[in-house]
Amino acid sequence: MSIAGATAGELLARMERGDITSADVTAAYLDVIDSHDGEVRAFVQVDRESALSQAREVDRRRGAGEHLGLLAGLPVAIKDILCTEGTRTTCCSRMLENFVPPYDAHAITLLKNADAVLIGKTNMDEFAMGSSTEHSYFGATRNPWDLECAPGGSSGGSAAAVAAQMSPLAVGTDTGGSIRQPAGFCGVVGMKPTYGRISRYGLVAFASSLDQIGPFANDVHGAALLLEAMSGYDQRDSTCIDTPVPRYSKTVEEPLEGLKIGVAAEHFVDGLDPEVEAAINAALDVYESLGAEIREINLPHAPYAVSVYYLIAPSEASSNLARYDGVHYGHRAESFENLVDMFSASRGEGFGDEVKRRIMLGTYALSAGYYDAYYLKALKVRRLIRQDFDKAFADIDVILSPVSPTPAFRIGEHDDDPLGMYLADIYTLSANLAGLPGISIPAGFSSAGLPIGLQLMAPPLEEERLLRAARMFERETEWHTKRPALADRSS
Ligand code: GLN
Repeated sequence: MSIAGATAGELLARMERGDITSADVTAAYLDVIDSHDGEVRAFVQVDRESALSQAREVDRRRGAGEHLGLLAGLPVAIKDILCTEGTRTTCCSRMLENFVPPYDAHAITLLKNADAVLIGKTNMDEFAMGSSTEHSYFGATRNPWDLECAPGGSSGGSAAAVAAQMSPLAVGTDTGGSIRQPAGFCGVVGMKPTYGRISRYGLVAFASSLDQIGPFANDVHGAALLLEAMSGYDQRDSTCIDTPVPRYSKTVEEPLEGLKIGVAAEHFVDGLDPEVEAAINAALDVYESLGAEIREINLPHAPYAVSVYYLIAPSEASSNLARYDGVHYGHRAESFENLVDMFSASRGEGFGDEVKRRIMLGTYALSAGYYDAYYLKALKVRRLIRQDFDKAFADIDVILSPVSPTPAFRIGEHDDDPLGMYLADIYTLSANLAGLPGISIPAGFSSAGLPIGLQLMAPPLEEERLLRAARMFERETEWHTKRPALADRSS
């Protein structure tokens, strides 16, 4: 298998055996980026020399017999919302177009400690607001399976980079599905860990009670590796959970005996594409053939998840984004008449339409007179959504559902229909509202040749269970081995 088509585990083994070096691996991915990223636009920044010099340093240390970290010499692509010291971090917004952070996010520090090669920063919806990566100041990313289609979002660049074999691993963030939905659209594995599993220090805030960092990979083991490398307690994030990090990359290979899978009627509603439904049913058959028991469950408040999320997330965003005032850092308008005008001109020029829409929605929901009716009520329903899960998980181990109601939509399809785009998040939002871990894994293709993902969710901090359950399915199927033709042409 060519380097770019290999899994993270295969590459690590080949580097350990001395068959290939990290410099070979890194150069192979950089070559795919050179040949294809003009079309896909997964990356907003790639520094070839920096990536190769990181790789050579790992090779030198390996040669000297030094002990190396978990991801020794493996390229990892980073969503451009994680602060990287000395390297621009733009959130794909004009507001931060020239922002160079003076420090690394905690997850980036851990990746460096794990001896990963940071290969570049990936494209995303501005400030992670969106489900298509069309709302990027630098232009849309395209789905490697069909360049007319969106890769999903907001971590569309990271998902497309892995799908197009431009990196074996990538980091994304998931506030309301932004890892799992693009993973589903691009036919790769994407995981949102439990809220608090990975420190949010140095992650540019969108909705702080929902934001989580997580891995993309081309197989479940790769996701386990990257999750293991980035997890761990950090006192600089007060919501970070202080609990030991399991060896996800080892335990992922152990199948689960007597797995009980919950399927919720609320997840099979109008608007679910029949091809997606068929793929989910086929996946349930696979699990049954492995001895799993399928049980019907109810998540009665699931239908409210979209409304609750689109009140809470914009409310938190309107508060978090107040810091971009043109004074401390970020874009400042050139002409203005007075201080208030400077704030307003800087923000008017610096933010794109979707970000402005969210700020307006959030400001409205938080304003005196509407706070109780909207924001406070949304918090109460959020609690009910969490309670639904607590009840369901008393009898089952994991919940299986679609990731998105349809396969990838076309670029521009939702231009005049933001609500239609919000509804695409219907199956992913609940896990964020309840703080649960969720994973999206490849589960088939539509008749148009677009990937279809399936989602598994587990109780808080049960990432091991989630990964093991996902790996059981992956072992029986070949969906995760498929690569888009775009990438084949280059290898
Ligand atoms: N699509 C959702 C939104 O637009 C989720 C985004 C995310 O998870 N960052 O808010």
